[in-house]
Amino acid sequence: MGAGGASPDDVSGLRRALGDRAVVDPELVAPYALDSSRAVPEGTPLALVLAESTADVAAALRWADAAGVRVSVRGAGTGLVGGAMAYDGGLIISLERMNRILEIDRKNRVAVVQAGVITGELDDACRELGLFFPPDPASARLCTVGGNIATNAGGLRCVSHGVTTDSVAGLEVVLADGRVMRTGARTRKNVVGYDLTSLFVGSEGTLGVVTEATVRLKPVPEGAPRTFRASFDRVEDAGRAVTAIVNGPARPEVLELMDALSVEIIESFHPSGLAVPAGAMLVGQTVGLDAAEQAGIITGICAAHGAGDTEISDSDALLEARRLSNPALNARGLKISCDVGVPVAALAEMFRGVGEISERHGKRISTVAHAGDGNLHSTVEAPDDPEGIREADAVIDDITRLAISLGGTISGEHGIGSVKRHELSWQLDGTALGVQRALKRALDPRGILTPDRAI
Ligand SMILES: Cc1cc2nc3c(=O)[nH]c(=O)nc-3n(C[C@H](O)[C@H](O)[C@H](O)COP(=O)(O)OP(=O)(O)OC[C@H]3O[C@@H](n4cnc5c(N)ncnc54)[C@H](O)[C@@H]3O)c2cc1C
Repeated sequence: MGAGGASPDDVSGLRRALGDRAVVDPELVAPYALDSSRAVPEGTPLALVLAESTADVAAALRWADAAGVRVSVRGAGTGLVGGAMAYDGGLIISLERMNRILEIDRKNRVAVVQAGVITGELDDACRELGLFFPPDPASARLCTVGGNIATNAGGLRCVSHGVTTDSVAGLEVVLADGRVMRTGARTRKNVVGYDLTSLFVGSEGTLGVVTEATVRLKPVPEGAPRTFRASFDRVEDAGRAVTAIVNGPARPEVLELMDALSVEIIESFHPSGLAVPAGAMLVGQTVGLDAAEQAGIITGICAAHGAGDTEISDSDALLEARRLSNPALNARGLKISCDVGVPVAALAEMFRGVGEISERHGKRISTVAHAGDGNLHSTVEAPDDPEGIREADAVIDDITRLAISLGGTISGEHGIGSVKRHELSWQLDGTALGVQRALKRALDPRGILTPDRAI
């Protein structure tokens, strides 16, 4: 029983506050209980709130805080680390109905949106005005801006435009006890108090529920973009080429890597005539009036680093292949993967190490990478049974420890959620972890909001 007299078994208070927006029918609640990760559900949630306003979110959290009911927060459920999975007996708050673009301020290049707006739809609306929303996760047609903010999502264009946090100017957040606060400002510069906007970006639903965001936009570059491809016999050479490209005169907007096994998997999922390289393939895009010239500089660097075959095109097909990697892996039932990052100068060493780990474990590993950011998604081929999963997890652990030994990170863009929580102490020292958990306690003393995840 909580301070407000509500009990977890008694959702009548929630129904009184929210009417039909509080859903208890298990069949209607079930689709909101999972995300896109391999995390295993811990039980059956009590109820779902289909919030239509900030006031709805506040009412739901006030009820849960008083009742001591654990809350999971959900955008579109495309998360890959179990962050939005429902709790047994818990409350789910869904932001999917809060999907309005409230304002596009062209002169100041910002937009104000509700958290549930679909990322790709915001980008489309901005493009009609000659602007675009820089974050572009491969899931952009499905995921929400609120989910991107909560995970500090990355994507294909990050090498040029940064990750989600670089595009967030301010937030409206509902705290665990239902209080509503605003952070940030519409101005380019703002040094007033602690940078709470950045604190909430990447907090994976543990510190507050993002209900509204003011995001930064950029002008669509002039001229026709160009895509490029370079195929290498050795994946380490592709890694060296990436290091040279990001330190060179050209500015790729996209710079991605697919190793031979990934190209094979993507081609068998969606044949597009892409020749499987012996080692790896770099694909990317340049923009601006000098896009063709820049693509030429990049393919020249690739050739100098051992690429046997290069191509420049005005078609998007090369990038489309890269965007299909996640569904292609899923179609093969391959879900045990990582999201590690390394400093870009360590890429060749990282690729060599992944090859050694593959040999040592006798497991095939496919790697796609946001190469320009040093961010790798390596997936282990293993049978989908307990033994196969255990073996694949051991491979992922080795890859993760290798990334950390090279000065890297456990997660470049997906976050920690529940799936990677056991790895936290590999990267964060005890003091840093203690400070993070103190912040959590300060903002959510009763521990009801996405507890035991992310930190
Ligand atoms: C095919 C595919 C491709 C992908 N490609 C990429 C990629 O290129 N880059 C990348 O970074 N990720 C990628 N992802 C992962 C995923 O799309 C991102 O993590 C995305 O940001 C999640 O958004 P969502 O709306 O689906 O959030 P959800 O999955 O619903 O939630 C994710 C996390 O954010 C929290 N959350 C959601 N909304 C809010 C809110 N309003 N307030 C507070 N917390 C909230 C949840 O509690 C959870 O912890 C991909 C996933 C798939 C399935």
